This record gives sequence, C-alpha cells and structure tokens, in this order.
Amino acid sequence: MKKGLLERLASGPVICAEGYLFELERRGYLQAGAYVPEVVLDFPEQVENLHRDFLRAGSDVIEAFTYYAHREKLRLIGRESDLEPMNRQALAIARKVAAEGDALVAGNICNTNIYEPNNKDAARQVRAMFEEQVGWAVDAGVDLIVAETISWLGEAEIALDVIRQTRLPSVVTFALHRQGELRDKVSAAEGAKKIEQLGADVVGLNCIRGIRTMMPYVKQIRDAVKIHVAALPVPYRTTQAEPTFESLTEKDPECQHCIPDRRSFPVALDPFQATRYEIAEFGREAHAMGVNYLGVCCGAGPHHIRALAEALGRRPAASRFSPDMSKHYAYGNDARLKQANREYAEKL
Ligand SMILES: [Zn+2]
Repeated sequence: MKKGLLERLASGPVICAEGYLFELERRGYLQAGAYVPEVVLDFPEQVENLHRDFLRAGSDVIEAFTYYAHREKLRLIGRESDLEPMNRQALAIARKVAAEGDALVAGNICNTNIYEPNNKDAARQVRAMFEEQVGWAVDAGVDLIVAETISWLGEAEIALDVIRQTRLPSVVTFALHRQGELRDKVSAAEGAKKIEQLGADVVGLNCIRGIRTMMPYVKQIRDAVKIHVAALPVPYRTTQAEPTFESLTEKDPECQHCIPDRRSFPVALDPFQATRYEIAEFGREAHAMGVNYLGVCCGAGPHHIRALAEALGRRPAASRFSPDMSKHYAYGNDARLKQANREYAEKL
C-alpha cells in the first residue's frame, strides 16, 4: 500500500517537481506566451520522459501536466474541443510514471486568469473550470489535488472548495507578485490563515519568486498557520529591486541590446539561473524552518530536484551520476591521474 500525502508529510519532507512548462519549452515542445500544454496530446512521450526524469531525480509527487489545460486557455488557442482529452491524457501519463516508483499522483488546477473580485459571473465560470478539471482528476484516481500559482485569495477559496468536495488531500499555493501581497490586498500570511480555516492540508507559495525573495514570506506563513507549509520557488536569482522573475532585467551592458523589450522573462532568464547548490541550501533551510512540502517551479531541471533530494538526505536513482571530481584529469586526486595535468590545474 502506497503511503498518502499526509502520512508522508507527518514523517518528513515531500518533494514535488514543478515547472514542466519551462522545461518543455526549452526542449522545443511547447510555446512560450500562451503556455498551453499542447505537448500532452502532440508529444505525450516527451511529457512521460520529463516526469520520469523528475521521478529519478527524487520527486515524490508527479503532478499531472494540466497546468493551463483549462477552458480559458484552450479557447484562446482554438483547441477547446481538446480540453477533456488533454486533461485525461495528462492524468494517465502522470499515473503511469508515478507507478514506476513510489510516487503520488497529483491532479492540478491553477490560475484561470478570468477571476475578478465581486464578479459573481466570473466566480461561476472559475468554479465550473475547476470542477471539470477536478472531476477528471478524480476519475483518474489521483492521490491529491494541487491548486497552484493563484494570486487572488478569492480564486484560491473557490479552488479549495472544489477540491474539498473530493475529500482528497489539498495543496494550495499562492503566487506572490511584485507587491508582495495577494491581489485582493491581503498578506500572504493572512491568505494562508484563511485557507487553513477553510480546511486545506497544505498551504504555501509557488512560482514567480526566487528563493531569496520568496523565503521571508514562507517564514511568515509558517509562523501564521499550523498546517503543512509549501515552498516551491523559481530557480532564478531574484532581488529586492527585482523580486519576481517577470521583473528581472539583463545586467550585462553588452548583452542587453539583443533582448526584445529588454525583458528577460520568459526565455532570456538563463543568466539568473540558480545553481544546484543554492537549491540544496534552500532545501536544508526550508526544512529546518518546518516547511515540509518542497519543490522548484518554472526553470527547474532534474539536476535541481536531485540536489534538493540529496540535501534532504535522500539518494534518488539519479544520484548514481552526482558529481565526483576525484577522477577529473586536472582537478582530481586519483593516483592514476597524470601528475603534470594536476599541476596544470591552476592554469585552467
Ligand atoms: Zn512556475
């Protein structure tokens, strides 16, 4: 019998790899901009491979790739008739890969981009979008449901209410934009408290902010609630001046000119990439703070997830190939290496 999310969280950290949109965009199977996971229907083997890469790297949760596979987005790209097949296929792929390990399958709903406060019609549409996606996730037999990247407390409340009807464990993570508060003008900690009161199992933050500019808010949430807390930053070096990955701008004067609109988001963020060591440090510090649901969002690669898993004392399958410089021709210390090359190391 597979252990459930809450059982796992009670005994230690749970790792959830996210950021499939960015990784599959880099690999050439998904378009930046609309960011619809058409890859699920058009190149399903690529989604399967990516899930498998993250599973090998130590992810405990395989999230069905239904992020932005919702009615508003599919209408936007003229593929509304593919909505249900896309969701069902994404769920089936996640289930298949999760079964290859001991991973949990998560259904996934996200920001709808149509929510407006005090707009009953919008709220009805949002609820209908969540209900259809959650319904398909339940049909697929998921172990938990994640509502992620939501920047309105009101929208998160609808998402949680829909998830709660299923009686499955719920994870709600907010996206915190430049203002450092939810769009309803509520602080992250206050929003998290409300979500706790409404019965969520896990609450926290995902996406948008890098480690440095996300963790102070995660700490505030940790202090405000008693339920499990989630932290899934983007692996980019955001700063006080540019606290979100959308706001990052290229600093190298010789490189600025070639970036359209001078906006590094979303496809020129490479110079801001966090190393796997920073991710490992994040994992250790967050865990020490009592944050048990950990992951990395847009920009994450399997190497980040492996570093996170190792920082938490794990040794996933991919650790077989974790770095070992002892046999490097110049930096190594193996007795069989050529001494002349080792002496040349400082000239490399
Ligand atoms: Zn993200």
